[in-house]
Amino acid sequence: MKRALVTGGSGGIGAAICRRLAADGHHVIVHANRSRGKAEAIVGEIIAAGGSAEAVVFDVTERAATAAALEALLETGPIQIVVNNAGIHADAVFPGMSAEQWHSVIDVSLHGFFNVTQPLSLPMIRTRWGRIINISSVAAIAGNRGQVNYSAAKGALHAATKSLALEVANRGITVNAVAPGVIATEMSDGAFDAETIKKLVPMQRAGRPEEVADLVAFLASDKAAYISGQIISINGALI
Ligand code: NDP
Repeated sequence: MKRALVTGGSGGIGAAICRRLAADGHHVIVHANRSRGKAEAIVGEIIAAGGSAEAVVFDVTERAATAAALEALLETGPIQIVVNNAGIHADAVFPGMSAEQWHSVIDVSLHGFFNVTQPLSLPMIRTRWGRIINISSVAAIAGNRGQVNYSAAKGALHAATKSLALEVANRGITVNAVAPGVIATEMSDGAFDAETIKKLVPMQRAGRPEEVADLVAFLASDKAAYISGQIISINGALI
């Protein structure tokens, strides 16, 4: 049984990824920041369904706290699947964007990726098998008004995905990014109503978190061993 850490497992897409990886037989570490209760509820669901899971809580922007939490997890063995899914948005048109909005979004998505993935990388390399999956966004591919900070953070994640994939390719480790379009979660609920989604998305609906989770689970599987350094978008033909 492999151990999988899903950051932001307490959120909409993260929870679906946790459930799916557990259904595939992995031990899932469901991560939360503020929503410990949600992470514990998902752990309870997974265990009730016959799976294996535990919850962990830390702020991915805090390097020392993240390192301490990961060190404790590594005491019981390596983590071979890492899904960097924690993310926030703080939208504003650029002239009105505050430094706080700029830094907070980059801190969670980009520095969070570093804080979580770097300490896990050597133990993963030693096992000669690993999967690193970074959840980005179509905003990083096509751009999006009001999201200069968010698209910059996710675009940097794309570049990091490609470079890290090269570094670890001969160690049995793949590194990919999954770039969702509009997915029905709390994050997108405030941003789009059903009518807007119908006009915006050629498939005329938001994607489901489970659809993103299916893609992530495939990338995490042995079947995806030859897919690395890729940005794979799941967006209902949006771009
Ligand atoms: P949610 O808002 O539902 O979940 C966000 C998750 O990130 C939560 O689990 C939250 O933890 C966690 N998180 C936020 N800040 C921190 C932090 N400082 N440290 C640790 N964890 C943190 O979002 P979604 O499920 O919709 O999004 C998941 C990912 O998918 C994000 O990276 C997002 O950018 C991306 N995405 C989403 C799209 C959508 O349409 N929904 C479209 C494209 C990309 P907690 O609640 O415990 O604080």
